[in-house]
Amino acid sequence: MSRKFNFCAGPAALPEAVLTKAQGEMLDWHGRGLSVMEMSHRSEEFVAIAEGAETALRKLMNISDEFAVLFVQGGATQQFSAVPMNLLGDKAVANYVNTGQWSKKAIKEASKYCEVNVAATSEAENFSCIPSFDSWNIDRSGAYLHYTPNETIGGVEFFWVPQVDMPIVADMSSTILSRPIDVNQFDVIYAGAQKNIGPSGLTLVIARRALLGNAHPLTPSMLDYKVHDDAGSMSNTPPAYAWYMAGLVFDWLLEQGGLAAMEAINLRKSSKLYNFIDAHDFYANPVEIASRSRMNVPFTLADSGLDKAFLSGAEERGLLNLKGHRSVGGMRASIYNAVPEAAVDALIGYMQEFAAANA
Ligand SMILES: *Cc1c(COP(=O)(O)O)cnc(C)c1O
Repeated sequence: MSRKFNFCAGPAALPEAVLTKAQGEMLDWHGRGLSVMEMSHRSEEFVAIAEGAETALRKLMNISDEFAVLFVQGGATQQFSAVPMNLLGDKAVANYVNTGQWSKKAIKEASKYCEVNVAATSEAENFSCIPSFDSWNIDRSGAYLHYTPNETIGGVEFFWVPQVDMPIVADMSSTILSRPIDVNQFDVIYAGAQKNIGPSGLTLVIARRALLGNAHPLTPSMLDYKVHDDAGSMSNTPPAYAWYMAGLVFDWLLEQGGLAAMEAINLRKSSKLYNFIDAHDFYANPVEIASRSRMNVPFTLADSGLDKAFLSGAEERGLLNLKGHRSVGGMRASIYNAVPEAAVDALIGYMQEFAAANA
């Protein structure tokens, strides 16, 4: 067996220690004679796994009982419709900030349910920056403000939280758990698991309980946050194995020293890579410096005719999945929590070598 360095945007790398632990428990979980995949979700064993994962996450992110923590299915994309269905109430408008491809998808879906006021957009700048908060045009009659703290495709990240006097909703799919945040500043946080939480098939929703119970009457039960909160996310069969894996990832993060420790590592990893890119004319990253993502680092080569050669050379050296998103081209290194610093060092070493050979 030889594991390579995986820079995939999602499903993404998982901590090797977590995979090893899951492997050890695969056939016979804690001497019960069956795997987690084969357990009833109502069994004492699985309920302990599920509650343990929630407790670990609450500890990691310091989440109070004012918030429900839901383990659901459907991906972050399902939340694009769940959010308006749960939060619009009798309002007809919602505010959205458009900072890239994922914001756009959220806006498109929400437009089925309400009028969307695009409070700010960086589309004219080709999503290379975050519109300064002074310029935002928020509709006060809106039910909430939705934004995307990290644009996974464009590599643009917010390092500040908008202060507005309405519920604030954040698609944290690709930044959650990468650094400490104050959950109390938000009302709904959601994230597909396959970036920084665990395997795909699980979606995490953290929702302020005071806002629940007002979903549109036609909301499918499986999209109603209140239904999931009341049932401990077990109104139907939950994504049990992914939930278990997420719990192992949460335990691993606690062992690493929690989110402050992860932030220090992530800052080091991303700074190294950006510094290298900035120091070499052969490579470029288009994002304004203050808004560069610590999780997703897109970059281009001076000559895009060399892209193919760059990627095949990377693959030969065990550096996988560096191809940029099909909508933007170029390269993208996703360096989530589970991507070790050694992977970034190896990438930089290869980039140096490739530039020297092709400049
Ligand atoms: C990956 C991603 C999504 C889509 O997630 P799915 O789980 O595939 O639906 C949405 N938003 C952001 C920011 C993402 O990174």
